[in-house]
Amino acid sequence: MTTLSIRATAAWFGPGRLIEDAQVVCDGGTITYAGEATDIGHADRDLALDGFLMPAVADRHVHIELSNPSAVLAGGVTAVRDLAWPVERIFALADASEMPSFDGPLIKAAGPMLTAPGGYPTQDSWAPPGTGREIEGTDDATAAVEELARLGAAAIKVSLNAEAGPTPADGELSAICDAAHTADLPVTAHAQGKGQVERALGAGVDELAHTPWIRLSDEVIQTAALRLRIVSTLDILSFGHDTPEIRTALDNLRRFHVAGGSIAYGTDLGNGEIPPGIHTREAQLMVEAGLEPEEVLEAMIRAPLAPDAPADMVVLRTSPLDDLRALDDVSLVIRAGRVVAGR
Ligand SMILES: [Zn+2]
Repeated sequence: MTTLSIRATAAWFGPGRLIEDAQVVCDGGTITYAGEATDIGHADRDLALDGFLMPAVADRHVHIELSNPSAVLAGGVTAVRDLAWPVERIFALADASEMPSFDGPLIKAAGPMLTAPGGYPTQDSWAPPGTGREIEGTDDATAAVEELARLGAAAIKVSLNAEAGPTPADGELSAICDAAHTADLPVTAHAQGKGQVERALGAGVDELAHTPWIRLSDEVIQTAALRLRIVSTLDILSFGHDTPEIRTALDNLRRFHVAGGSIAYGTDLGNGEIPPGIHTREAQLMVEAGLEPEEVLEAMIRAPLAPDAPADMVVLRTSPLDDLRALDDVSLVIRAGRVVAGR
């Protein structure tokens, strides 16, 4: 294995771990040391950087084939989770992405979205045939989840988009959740339309793939904060503009955060004009929803820098804890212990 040592004038390793004159040593794709700079022998490659080192970013909601994997990686995102794409295409790409030499992020995938016959996204122009898997009955629901688990799915995505067509029945939804949990897979839901978040909560869904943009009652927010995680995807509701949808979503996420709910960074990359790589405006919207900058970073990273963690890092010119706009200026990207972008 090739060893790499990085020294940086400042670093944030993870929550509560801001370090001056920091050093991280990697052996292949794994970190073996992360702490204050120390003399611990020679690595195959030594980098000494005047910059701010932090863990690389994971985008937990993408449609990678609608974007540019190479640009995603060069922009500081070393891992993504694809939340709806045809089986034949996405799992082969996910397998290929495990190679350290892959020119893109590590890809985890849900495969197709489980939906009702004719339901979202089967009629939508962005979605190639096979992006939705139409479920017919509870046995079929169970079989679909078991097949995706065999193919290597990292999560099960279910469509509860009642504004774009029919959705799986309650029994089918419960069967999906039961089969997923038996296979140790989380269920993430696209919940859109009146009462759909409530249905997700009732069935045991683990995550909402978007911050909902119709107002949720305080009671629903309280229950949701205890039971599921929300993937932010705020900027698809605004693209930098003030809209009724972004105001309502921010209000929902603000109350969810106050109630102690867990929030993950995700952009829905592939949907509209979301740029590849770290999307600073998404991070800034999370601040508008009441998260501290450090909480935003925590929601964005793949994993804190520590021994045995993946050797995925970025170097910025200045600290994003002072101003999140620092995320716009990525000078170096390391994936699996290899410098993949920058000097
Ligand atoms: Zn999506």
